[in-house]
Amino acid sequence: QRPVPSDVTISRSCVPIPIECLAEEIGLFSDEVELYGRTKAKVQLKTIDRLQAQPDGKYVVVTGITPTPLGEGKSTTTIGLVQALGAHLKLNAFACVRQPSQGPTFGIKGGAAGGGYSQVIPMEEFNLHLTGDIHAITAANNLVAAAIDARMFHEATQSDKALFNRLVPLTGGQRKFSPVQINRLEKLGIKKTDPSTLTEEEITHFVRLDIDPESITWQRVLDTNDRFLRKITIGQSPTEKGFTRTAQFDITVASEIMAVLALTTSLADMKEKLAKMVVATSRSGQPVTTEDLGVCGALTVLMRDAIKPNLMQTLEVRGVVLGCVFTNYYANHLDRSPLKINYTLFMVYCCFLPVTEAGFGADIGMEKFFNIKCRYSGLKPHVVVLVATVRALKMHGGGPTVTAGTPLPKEYIEENLALLEAGCSNMRKQVENAQLFGVPVVVAVNAFKTDTKAELDLICKLAKAAGAFDAVHCSHWADGGTGAVDLARAVQKAADLPSSFKFLYGIELPIVDKIRIIAQKIYGADDIELLPEAQHKVDLYSKQGFACLPICMAKTHLSLSHDAEKKGVPTGFVLPIRDIRASVGAGFLYPLVGTMPTIPGLPTRPCFYDIDLDTESGEVLGLF
Ligand code: ADP
Repeated sequence: QRPVPSDVTISRSCVPIPIECLAEEIGLFSDEVELYGRTKAKVQLKTIDRLQAQPDGKYVVVTGITPTPLGEGKSTTTIGLVQALGAHLKLNAFACVRQPSQGPTFGIKGGAAGGGYSQVIPMEEFNLHLTGDIHAITAANNLVAAAIDARMFHEATQSDKALFNRLVPLTGGQRKFSPVQINRLEKLGIKKTDPSTLTEEEITHFVRLDIDPESITWQRVLDTNDRFLRKITIGQSPTEKGFTRTAQFDITVASEIMAVLALTTSLADMKEKLAKMVVATSRSGQPVTTEDLGVCGALTVLMRDAIKPNLMQTLEVRGVVLGCVFTNYYANHLDRSPLKINYTLFMVYCCFLPVTEAGFGADIGMEKFFNIKCRYSGLKPHVVVLVATVRALKMHGGGPTVTAGTPLPKEYIEENLALLEAGCSNMRKQVENAQLFGVPVVVAVNAFKTDTKAELDLICKLAKAAGAFDAVHCSHWADGGTGAVDLARAVQKAADLPSSFKFLYGIELPIVDKIRIIAQKIYGADDIELLPEAQHKVDLYSKQGFACLPICMAKTHLSLSHDAEKKGVPTGFVLPIRDIRASVGAGFLYPLVGTMPTIPGLPTRPCFYDIDLDTESGEVLGLF
């Protein structure tokens, strides 16, 4: 095998075509495309109307075995597959991938543009800022956070009358409610539109959200792995008159606004979802929403461009990438796919194969993708591509743990069929998981240069024995689309099977039953155990009317169980549910399984050590 240069060297060696030419080539009109420089564009939402009558294409979701630190290459496979489908089989195929978060880009993992000869280009444009969607989420999220604390401060320091006069100011000698205030009055059961007719009691109700500070679930966010913000004290300045409280920062991609963006179907739908987000509970037990805070309109304004799909290209041009929003952190990893608008737009337009990626292993990314995303979008997936690697399966079979920066142990670079066969149990379980949804599975064995043919063949044999429709090895990292042509053919065949897609559970089931179904059927748990806080939330959300939402489990992606150390297929465990939170705007409940940091930390030697700018050439160095 010839040596493969670094990702950034490959990316830079290829001259991208101007994005407006690409847009024209794929049939978009010039007034439907907003250019962001020469290699990125946004597609206007009105394009969907023009394409409405087109039939849907076949929908392919790329997922993986349970991830290990050795990496599986899901993004690389997504891009390689699209390059093979587009540039080699001449089919209309588009990749819908996540936007990279700056946290991992400068932290441990690096960027998310794929790798080797299967990449989105220019990779530095893709990995850094893109078109600012993640920054927009940070801004919108933190506006809500500021609104919550400011509102509590004002309520505590002003009389009802003073609050009323400020919230409903005199304009032209008259007081008038704004549309969100009328909605709030309706919610309170006050059927009045003339501010002068409110009784004193009604004024008190109207002006006082009466947020219980202990119940605030909305956190501030930033897109940097800054572990020292995991727990903070806010309001320490004397100007806040002692309104200090303990709070925290999460990584931006864990914001509910990110999940809203991933699940929304139109501008109007996004506006509605942004207004429904519950940020806290009042002292009387009522949910307090962004609409109650009066901030929902401003959020929609901040997010109005972020909702538009982004257009970029792969190394082999025809596979076009809709860089969308990254949602696969913490509870909100609904996948890396874009809005319904994105894939509807391109499914209907290109009619054959949109390929999207459901981050992490099939038990996490794929399960949520099917049960939440497909439920909301109404789209039926046709094929699951399950990415596996020899080295990761060996780790599942009992191979030694690896430490970053040290050479790989010999188990991973020399042939070891026994270790590999033992680890294939994890692949078998993930194949079975996909089959629970009635979708055919194609296993893609992403080959590394140290893998032997016997090892690659063994995985394919065991994958087919586990019920996969097909299993192929591919070399798209080293060879680009040519290396994934067999995979593309297998996917094409599988996509022609009649779809018998079904959800795993009905959303009308009680909260606990839904969690138990996922735990037992997907993770292989004996049962679940609800800890007191989780039980309290089951009662609260059932009372508040949120029990019928689908479930988005916040569990480690590194094991099928809740213990990241347990590889392979753990058995004989009871899944502990520590707490349950609600993302009412986005539309799901997320049980917390064990403890999970909501903002990662930086290692001793983060990726940023190697990132630099050559000031002579303007080139970015060290990204991967
Ligand atoms: P995932 O999406 O599963 O997290 P990525 O596709 O982002 O994984 O790949 C992680 C890293 O592994 C990237 O730097 C990529 O270049 C590298 N990689 C992927 N496949 C291969 C391969 N077959 N050989 C060598 N490196 C690979």
